[in-house]
Amino acid sequence: MATSIPVERTKQSRISETDFNNLEFGKYISDHMLVASYSNGRWNDMKVVPYGPMAMTPAILALHYGQSVFEGLKAFRNNDGDICVFRAARHSQRLNKSLERMCMPTVSEEMFVQGIHALLEVDQAWIPSSPASLYIRPIVFATESRFGVKVSDEYLFVIMTSPVGPYFSKPLRVKVEDHFVRAAEGGTGYAKCAGNYGGAFYPTMLARDQGFDQVLWTDARNHEYIDEAGVMNVMFVADGKLITPALSSAILDGVTRDSILQLAPTMGITTEERRVSVEEIQRGLERGIITEAFGAGTAAVVSPIASISIRGVDYHLPEPGPDSFQQRVKRKLNDIRMGLEPDVFGWNYIIRQS
Ligand SMILES: *Cc1c(COP(=O)(O)O)cnc(C)c1O
Repeated sequence: MATSIPVERTKQSRISETDFNNLEFGKYISDHMLVASYSNGRWNDMKVVPYGPMAMTPAILALHYGQSVFEGLKAFRNNDGDICVFRAARHSQRLNKSLERMCMPTVSEEMFVQGIHALLEVDQAWIPSSPASLYIRPIVFATESRFGVKVSDEYLFVIMTSPVGPYFSKPLRVKVEDHFVRAAEGGTGYAKCAGNYGGAFYPTMLARDQGFDQVLWTDARNHEYIDEAGVMNVMFVADGKLITPALSSAILDGVTRDSILQLAPTMGITTEERRVSVEEIQRGLERGIITEAFGAGTAAVVSPIASISIRGVDYHLPEPGPDSFQQRVKRKLNDIRMGLEPDVFGWNYIIRQS
């Protein structure tokens, strides 16, 4: 099916202007994008076209009432020279959960995966070799132009890509947020919808002004339980076990989180998904029971947490060495994607290169 998607190639590739040795996250957008439009109750004419501006009015409903949903996943060039798209089906399922929450039309898994396939075939020169990768950004947004507060009848589905360098996050200083809220149960926290991010900027900016890198979000009711770390899921190693907050409607169901939870038992680590209280974290840090804390997300895979501030007191964690769980699981994930380890979970969508 990939080859049945029409392609309009750019006349002027920008690849030679791209500094592949200095890839700032999301700075360079590849030559092409996939576009499909929704109207009259269905998705029409999916095509690959040159990436660039699109004509639309400032009255499109996405801008006013926030019907805008996105995904983020990665493609790698594996050891055989083939292209590996990591967990495309899982990202497609999550996109549809987000779309449903926002009353937007779903995108079939076939359309999602074949759209990525077609786009990557056209822009394969943009897929850097390891340890760099290609970040894939699908987005769906409401394009009907009118002022009434209503569910849009028209949408665009666009997939763009961007080559990204290896992302070594410096250890983060985080602050347990005890005033602002990212998401409440029953709200839209589990959806990757635009408004969640706009609303998180202000508390994150205030935390940065206080010298922190990120906020550890807590539950909206009492700020008693940990939800997430900025735009990553959060995980702790305590007493040799991997502990992470159980999913709720306020927590984004991260694919990296899910992958790590599946890999941990194969590495001899037991996992616990449950409510994690701020008090438990504070006690665990005081007594040295918690040996690791990290964020989990597609961009960095794992981002070590160096310190956690709880009600004004900073608790420090040691820098994770090569034998730490977070570094071992990061290597394992990488090996699976690169084809150095068998893909026993069927996570890789492979586009073979002839
Ligand atoms: C995207 C995202 C994550 C991480 O999800 P991955 O699928 O692992 O990239 C976690 N939290 C939030 C709020 C996110 O937007």
